[in-house]
Amino acid sequence: MTAVTGLPPTMADRKDDVTPMLSQYVELCEQHPDALVLFQVGDFYEAFCEAAEEVARVCEVTLTQREDSTGEYPMAGIPIDNAASYLERLVEADYRVALADQVEDAEEASGLVDRAVTRVITPGTVVEDELLAAGSTTYVASVVERDAANGERDGYGIAAVDASTGECFVTTVPTRGDVREELDRIQPNELLVAGDAPTVAPDGDWMESAVDAELFEPTVARDRLAEYVADPDRRLDNDAEQRACGAVLAYAEYTQGDDGPLEYVSRIRRHDQRDQLRLDAAALRSLELFDNRGPGSGETVFDVLDETASALGRRCLDRWLRRPLVDRAAIEDRLDAVDALVDDGVVRSDLSDLLAEAYDLERLAGRVSRERANARDLRALHATLSIVPELKERIADIPALSDHHARLDELRDVATLIDEAISPEPPMELTEGGVIKQSFDDELDALRTTEQEGREWVADLEATERERTGIDSLSVGHNQVHGYYIEVTNPNLDQVPDDYTRRQTLKNAERFYTPELKEREDEIFGAAERADSLEYELFCEVRETVAAETDRIQALATTIAELDALCSFSIAATEGDYVRPELRAASDDAHISIHGGRHPVVETTQAEFVPNDTDLAGGDVAIITGPNMSGKSTYMRQVALICLLAQTGSFVPAEAATLPVLDRIFTRVGASDDIAGGQSTFMREMSELTEILHDATDRSLVLLDEVGRGTSTADGLAIAQATTEFIHDELDATTLFATHYHGLTDLADEREGVHNLHFAATREGDDVTFLHRVAPGASSASYGIEVARMAGVPTPVVDRARDVVATMTGDASDSSVADNATDAADSHPTSDNDTATDPAASAAAADDALADALAEQTLDPETVAAVAAELQALDIATMTPLEALNTLDSLRSQLDEE
Ligand code: ADP
Repeated sequence: MTAVTGLPPTMADRKDDVTPMLSQYVELCEQHPDALVLFQVGDFYEAFCEAAEEVARVCEVTLTQREDSTGEYPMAGIPIDNAASYLERLVEADYRVALADQVEDAEEASGLVDRAVTRVITPGTVVEDELLAAGSTTYVASVVERDAANGERDGYGIAAVDASTGECFVTTVPTRGDVREELDRIQPNELLVAGDAPTVAPDGDWMESAVDAELFEPTVARDRLAEYVADPDRRLDNDAEQRACGAVLAYAEYTQGDDGPLEYVSRIRRHDQRDQLRLDAAALRSLELFDNRGPGSGETVFDVLDETASALGRRCLDRWLRRPLVDRAAIEDRLDAVDALVDDGVVRSDLSDLLAEAYDLERLAGRVSRERANARDLRALHATLSIVPELKERIADIPALSDHHARLDELRDVATLIDEAISPEPPMELTEGGVIKQSFDDELDALRTTEQEGREWVADLEATERERTGIDSLSVGHNQVHGYYIEVTNPNLDQVPDDYTRRQTLKNAERFYTPELKEREDEIFGAAERADSLEYELFCEVRETVAAETDRIQALATTIAELDALCSFSIAATEGDYVRPELRAASDDAHISIHGGRHPVVETTQAEFVPNDTDLAGGDVAIITGPNMSGKSTYMRQVALICLLAQTGSFVPAEAATLPVLDRIFTRVGASDDIAGGQSTFMREMSELTEILHDATDRSLVLLDEVGRGTSTADGLAIAQATTEFIHDELDATTLFATHYHGLTDLADEREGVHNLHFAATREGDDVTFLHRVAPGASSASYGIEVARMAGVPTPVVDRARDVVATMTGDASDSSVADNATDAADSHPTSDNDTATDPAASAAAADDALADALAEQTLDPETVAAVAAELQALDIATMTPLEALNTLDSLRSQLDEE
């Protein structure tokens, strides 16, 4: 986490002995001590002195020396037309950038042009299209601890705003862990902290931004909120929420040039954690919903599901995946809609084609209301509005979409206004004409007619004057400096009539004007100039009228976004061969049953993905064993993802699924997968475990992957076992636990509802093959040795290793590997027991093959003992797979030297 900074205002000392322009710059820097000020000078944004050095360094532009009557100082500038990429660099270098624009026409200014900061660009409040990825969200957030001294309960208020779309929401959470969970879900780009007070928020990928602590003051915040909502005390739950929300809104206003409340923040939503399936940071990460940090294809669950056609839909899908539902009726509504679209391929593809024409209404509405929209933006708004009637028609006959149908507001008034007012292909600039359509405004039409007639008169002038004067080479032209002129070459000057007045002398010709030409010229330019500014005024009026409808535009945006997300679900379902999940009644226990389940991402990367069943009654614990890379994590994640997807209203990758509505998904991935390693990782692992042990309920799904590996084997096993017992006996949370601790599998014998599942491997020839099929029972007690055996380590070594393990675990009878692959007596929950690939049979076959191959071989007992001792000394739990392979290789070569 880095802090956003401004520039130390060391230039302040020099304010009085510099030129007026530099003094203006210094003053703006003083007004924005936390920002780097860029100062418009014509077509450039310039920075001076220390700021110039930073700009030159970060943007890699030339640092020049400017010299004036008061001395020399550094200066660096970036072209305004091309500012986006430079601004991005400055923001990435942790600067807030204040843009001081010329707010007065340079030609009209008497003396120094007036400048003002119109925009402060910060990581969390970017609104410029060039700096924003399509369909992304950019939040600035803040967290405030509830004031216990004030008699409040414990907890934290959290608020976030997206300055580009006006989305704003608040929530209150009870613990610090919840703060982290919520921030991980929001993924803000910037987090506000009050002055230099220590922050209550955890570390994260966001930038920390110090702001005036006053913004967080209860009265200040409440006054601010009152500008946005009628009754802040009723709308927001508590003081901490109000303070957090007031602060983010104040900051958003500041970054948009401090023009008062942001009109397009028209609604402040409250989230309640209880209204959504809760996912903590570890779940978001390890399920690879959005962010795939691991190696591999790089695809995320979001990528696989994202078939949205518009930026609006993309953002909606993102929100839905971050906040799956818990309200059965709401989930079923979405599922009904997806179902209907899955059934009707024609409507589905028509909708998708139509939605692809929708522009980003949320951001357009923001720009319109911030008075930043140009004529092209209004045209884009019109283009989007014009798909609405057809959208309505397409979904009119689908009962599951009747609510959306009713909500689709065609905004005919707005569409008609834009269409009547704005040219079909207007220029970017608003002040140079060409923006307003003909027949929209009588005065404008009259001005344009005057201009047009004048120009036609001038166009005819050449012919009339040639005829009048008899000078065939006479020509009429125009230039910027002198305006219209009649040009006569020197040989014909004697034929020039009396009413010509000389305007300009050239080498071979003279230029003249007549009183009438002058009069016409004034008329033409007067009308043109008046027309241009009238167009601008008319445009602003139209934009204001549209801005007054921001609420309706935002509501339409929401409806279109939802349609797109639903359509995306239906396309993903059709293409991925997903089924509609069935939800269990609230009164049922949290029984998860999945037939032929698949991992939505891994299945797209594998030539042949092996589907697996799951059948876990609520509160069951499945202990999953099997070698590395056999498919344990994939299986656990697929179960979680199928549950999660169902609760977002999506179909799921399975042949059939009957699922409970879960309240939370917890995942903990053990420290061995963590590169950092060491004691601190173990501590973290344990503290995360603590959270589960506090918070999991009989409606939660818990995934534990190799938990306990961050410490020595004996402690690890002890912790793993105690955890499992507690989750099972006390919490009754449905749990999948992948583990290397074979000792855990004994729990299945001791406790009802604890089952062993395993993933096995077979050997064919020299190849070790993973079946990726989950099967009942525990895997080999010593599957590390099993893999060593399959890799070709000679039998005597393997046997000796087994003895060693048996001694270590105090279980002398467990010396055989082949006979324990399935524990047939274990009452297991998985119905799929495919005998064709029975791992026990395969393992036995592999054993036989190995035995045959080694039958003739004799080995020196001393070497065998040495190798065995080395094997025994290995700390398998802390070895990387590569180290293990290298060690195996060296052990085998010791024997080969025999
Ligand atoms: P483990 O957790 O046992 O170490 P993983 O779940 O990480 O194993 O799986 C290892 C690899 O095996 C995956 O990256 C994937 O390529 C493949 N795999 C996993 N499950 C399946 C499956 N059901 N079908 C096909 N391939 C799979």
